Amino acid sequence: MTNRAFLTAKRELPGNKRVKYLKTIECRSILNKSGIPGIDFAINPYVGCTHKCQYCYAVFMKRFSGHTEPWGDFVDVKVNAPTVLEKQLIRLKQRNHISIGTVCDGYQPAEKKYTITRKCLGKLIPYRHSVSILTKSPLVTRDLDLLKQIKDIEVGFTITTLDPKVRRVFEPGTAPPDQRFKAIKMLSRNRIRTWVFVAPVLPYFTDSVYMITQIIKKAQDAGARHIMFDTLNPYPKVWKNVKRLVKKHFPEAIEQFRDFQDDSDHYQNRLRRKITDIGFKNMLPCKFAFGCG
Ligand code: SF4
Repeated sequence: MTNRAFLTAKRELPGNKRVKYLKTIECRSILNKSGIPGIDFAINPYVGCTHKCQYCYAVFMKRFSGHTEPWGDFVDVKVNAPTVLEKQLIRLKQRNHISIGTVCDGYQPAEKKYTITRKCLGKLIPYRHSVSILTKSPLVTRDLDLLKQIKDIEVGFTITTLDPKVRRVFEPGTAPPDQRFKAIKMLSRNRIRTWVFVAPVLPYFTDSVYMITQIIKKAQDAGARHIMFDTLNPYPKVWKNVKRLVKKHFPEAIEQFRDFQDDSDHYQNRLRRKITDIGFKNMLPCKFAFGCG
């Protein structure tokens, strides 16, 4: 996405108390080629994300959109996205994999009011593309009626921690994990394929045998088909911010974060072995988004 995507911009009063800067914009393109393996096109109905995750690598979007506000404080609503999507879908010649929410969460709080993601889902129904959604919000269950009409769809839920304090520090704008597991259960019971993405695995907080076992069990109980793990993105800005928060709120964890930073290959190998062992015992397929070193 470039600045050329922004044709008009209109400031509005925020619809949610967490959103400090909200505006509606119009985009030129909403179906954009993706560089993520396995994903042909990405749909991001919003610029910015008020889930405000402190480890979010999508912070680079500030550069492209000209935003100077802190990540998580702004959101631009692409109000014409459904109309643009309709036109772009007609031009697609073959079946593709389309992912909703690669640099924003399509079900962040603004979606409740603006329903841009919902309207985009509606446009996808007549086509045979496979569609995936990755979210941290139970709001996705609102759209069950539309999800059921898409032939090939799966919904992934990101879970990074079960600890309320850790969640408040690292992802202050998100719903508690229990609400996400409830949403997985609801969708699974309605025959929507679901999975859990543990990303990033936070050293000290998420990587213990106990915590991984708890998350795997909850995912399994809720009906998730598989679980995938990824480690922290070493993007310098993100890393600096995460370390600052650990030092401030959880000084007891700083050593483990340093271990990860000093030898991430070794850390990832150990983690992979640990998870494989736990997943095997629990019979839930475990996948890895990080390299095995
Ligand atoms: S939900 Fe995803 S896109 Fe939104 S802030 Fe968190 S990590 Fe970033």
